Amino acid sequence: MEDTIAAISTALGVGAISIIRVSGNEAIEIVNKIFDRDLLNVESHTIHYGHIIENNEVIDEVLVSVMKAPKTFTYEDIVEINTHGGIATTNKVLELLILNGARLAEPGEFTKRAFLNGRIDLVEAEGIMNLIEAKSEISRKLALKQLDGSVSNNIKALREKILKLLANIAVNIDYPEYEDILEVTTKDVSSEIVIIESELNKILKQSTETSLVLEGLKTVILGRPNVGKSSILNMLLNEEKAIVTDIAGTTRDVVEGSLNLNGVYLKLLDTAGIHQASDKVEEIGINKSLNLIKEAELILLVLDNSTELTNEDQKLLDLTKNKNRIIIVNKIDLDQKLDIKEENIVYLSALNKKGLEELRKKIVEMFNLDSINTDMNTFVNANDIAKIKQCLKLIDKIKEAIEDDIEIDMIEIDLREINEILGSIIGESYDEEILDTIFKNFCLGK
Ligand code: GDP
Repeated sequence: MEDTIAAISTALGVGAISIIRVSGNEAIEIVNKIFDRDLLNVESHTIHYGHIIENNEVIDEVLVSVMKAPKTFTYEDIVEINTHGGIATTNKVLELLILNGARLAEPGEFTKRAFLNGRIDLVEAEGIMNLIEAKSEISRKLALKQLDGSVSNNIKALREKILKLLANIAVNIDYPEYEDILEVTTKDVSSEIVIIESELNKILKQSTETSLVLEGLKTVILGRPNVGKSSILNMLLNEEKAIVTDIAGTTRDVVEGSLNLNGVYLKLLDTAGIHQASDKVEEIGINKSLNLIKEAELILLVLDNSTELTNEDQKLLDLTKNKNRIIIVNKIDLDQKLDIKEENIVYLSALNKKGLEELRKKIVEMFNLDSINTDMNTFVNANDIAKIKQCLKLIDKIKEAIEDDIEIDMIEIDLREINEILGSIIGESYDEEILDTIFKNFCLGK
């Protein structure tokens, strides 16, 4: 029998209310042990006022919601306790639940159960994660698309198309003697393959574009010391609509900040390097700069309008010339000494806070962000983009085979693999280990 799990589902901190969620066969029984009213005989989807009690002592005055399986998020019995929001109280109630037989949920375990019990598929689960993390209106809307199943349904429809084709091929291979069965010719297959290919390309295009919105553009601000990187960063961060969250990098020694520049969501890499003002390229180490450049989707290379181009500037220009790069010429309030002829230049004065809108426009233009809209409904998360590319490679292989007049049953294997890969995106064929990794990305209590 599965354990009954419990976790605090609201952000830990001081708030008006905290919610502790319990899910599993014994959810009602366990909460009943620490609640001063009977919960064992209540109807499903009802809310009960009472107290959490330990050894006759009142711990908190609470509201308890009882939701019986299967009409719940996990398809299991769920009890939610609304406590007063203090950290001590919330932790105390959680502790009592654990003492009475619940197990502390792993990050994302509620959602994982919803998936394993067939309530949602993987794309929908990722939609939940994206919705929680949505930092702009458009990313919120895109996440809802994942959540309401429109994205999954389109991928399912594509799989059905492939399955139909596979079925036709199989019938031809297995029952060649049935003359009334229309023989599938390579011509039929190749016309279907073209349709599947264009669907896959559409998914790839939409996914690449939406991932910029959902995950933010990985951006690096580069430049030699004193050109004004910190000042520009501060200007960006002080922008009224900018939302900043600093997350200490877990695997790397960098701090990432994210920022919503009037709808354009940037994920700034290595803001620590800038803050510490130890930002000389040599000091960071050329390897680290190279890594940052490699990782970045957008490079903001800052030059100083009031000095001539230095060797160091030139080196950075050379290093970034094949990337999506915007050159920011800063300090335009000072006399011009800089003379460069490059594309994608934005003139700016961090001192006078001028030029931000031009920068935003340039980014929108460079990544075609205006064309991203919430009509997009066949896309996958960034980590699944590689899978779509793999499918497209297999399609190329199939097309070659058709050109070489290879027997039709030979392409069956590749088609099957495509079907399998698409299945793994929505979680219809999955690997335990991968699942764990996916769900561990969730916050506790989700
Ligand atoms: P960083 O080393 O690249 O991070 O550069 P800072 O942001 O620390 O700026 C270096 C110096 O340039 C500081 O004294 C800033 O006040 C100054 N500065 C930055 N932006 C501007 C600007 O647009 N105009 C002028 N006149 N000075 C600026």
